[in-house]
Amino acid sequence: MTINSKLSPAEYVKTVIKQDQIDKYLNNGKDFIDDAAIFTELEKQKNPDNIKVRDIIDKSLSMNTLSAAETATLLNVDDPEMLAKMGEAGLKAKKFVYDNRIVTFAPLYMSNLCVNACLYCGFRKENEDEVRRKLSMDEVRRETEVLAGKIGHKRLIAVYGEHPSTSTDYIAESLETIYGVQAQTRRGVGAIRRVNVNAAPLPIEDLKVLHEVGIGTFQVFQETYHHDLYSQIHPGNAVKSNYRWRLYSMHRAMEAGVDDVGIGALFGLGDWRFEAMGLVAHARELEAKFNVGPHTISFPRIEPACNAPLAGSPDTRVSDANFLKLVSVLRLAVPYTGMIITAREGKSIRDQCIPLGCTQADCSSKIGIGAYDEAGSKQDSSKQQFMLGDTRSLEEMIRDLAKDGIITSFCTAAYRCGRTGGCIMDMLKTGKEGKFCKVNAVLTFREWLEDFACPETLEICRPVLNSEIEKVRMSLKPSFYKEFMNYYNRIESGERDLYF
Ligand code: SAM
Ligand code: SF4
Repeated sequence: MTINSKLSPAEYVKTVIKQDQIDKYLNNGKDFIDDAAIFTELEKQKNPDNIKVRDIIDKSLSMNTLSAAETATLLNVDDPEMLAKMGEAGLKAKKFVYDNRIVTFAPLYMSNLCVNACLYCGFRKENEDEVRRKLSMDEVRRETEVLAGKIGHKRLIAVYGEHPSTSTDYIAESLETIYGVQAQTRRGVGAIRRVNVNAAPLPIEDLKVLHEVGIGTFQVFQETYHHDLYSQIHPGNAVKSNYRWRLYSMHRAMEAGVDDVGIGALFGLGDWRFEAMGLVAHARELEAKFNVGPHTISFPRIEPACNAPLAGSPDTRVSDANFLKLVSVLRLAVPYTGMIITAREGKSIRDQCIPLGCTQADCSSKIGIGAYDEAGSKQDSSKQQFMLGDTRSLEEMIRDLAKDGIITSFCTAAYRCGRTGGCIMDMLKTGKEGKFCKVNAVLTFREWLEDFACPETLEICRPVLNSEIEKVRMSLKPSFYKEFMNYYNRIESGERDLYF
């Protein structure tokens, strides 16, 4: 039986967690995060020598996930020369797996109704200044029309608070609504082709329903992997107070057939090195149990939020220098995974993170409920979860990336061709998916330019487009290149959604 959306919040809190869907994954009653062992490893690997660090970098470039000891070693690197080498290697790994491109997406906030009490979030139930509501399906449609028809996004992350009235039925209906929108663009029709979901952990039965309606990546961030800290910042008997229900949400997703999963931690709650170790341990656990690691890793830093005691001035805020090191280490530790740098961060830090190997970035982002369809672009702390650092539009972002020689990709082909989970992992690790990435990036970029770019943007993007086409020509068999150019020309003539 899936979650009953008619439950009162109190009944929901009491019934949603299925203890047997936690216990079955435990090892002798223990979960896979050993807090003491993580701290011991971090201590043990202090002052690493450069030869060891170089060896670890080489292992990562062979597309192998790093061990706890290796990850701890990289987290302890302070030598600027070695940090620079780690950065260069990260970019090399990213190019091997994902080629020279950034995938863009936008968040779509569906609801700020929430039964939980997370001390860092503006949606916490105690925040009485938050104006609460969920989008109706008409509103979901209108938001999507703006995103797909006016801005040009092809991918969304749909975001939900935790509440019975916005649980599985609502998530499923909203996904179907989004996929159903066909919005008129300048020269064609715009549609959202992949909807990822960031929502509360769900039982296996409910995840099966989302699999049926075509969920993209299922994202759940652990927030902190530290058991005691987790309890302190999720007080009371809220659903989210249950560390293990959350820790095993991706195990349940895999069992339900949702094999593109996104993990993350909220940085600034505790020791950032510990959280990095937790993320890598999570990736290794998924690899060991399901032969598939995380499709993406997210590493948001806490941002100011309305009436949230832990957001705003946390003593543990991760400095910019440590944040950049964190990005480098995660890139090398899980070399095949997608890495998401969100618009929580300001432009300057995003610009520094991308060359370290990030693969995805959101832009034109608005995180108020119904904010895309509302006039005006001002952020309003009483209507959104936290405040954004980078409010660049998609077009501005595309131009900035193009100036740095990076192509923006709108490709959603892998998932639509069934290249998910274990299948895509193998293709990523062997660099095969990168070849698809390149051709599909060019095709989808051309499509976006046709439908949305102003003449100035077209001019700025022409060099990167031409250079990528040339690289495709050099790397493909002539017959495939001919087929690719055929698609390219058909897109220029107005056809849409052609991909390999
Ligand atoms: N309600 C669901 C949950 O908590 O899993 C999903 C949506 S929640 C809105 C998405 C994520 O936002 C959380 O997992 C958390 O990591 C992040 N978040 C919460 N408060 C934040 C803040 N003040 N600054 C930055 N990110 C925050
Ligand atoms: Fe609710 Fe998620 Fe915010 Fe916690 S982080 S208060 S669960 S929306």
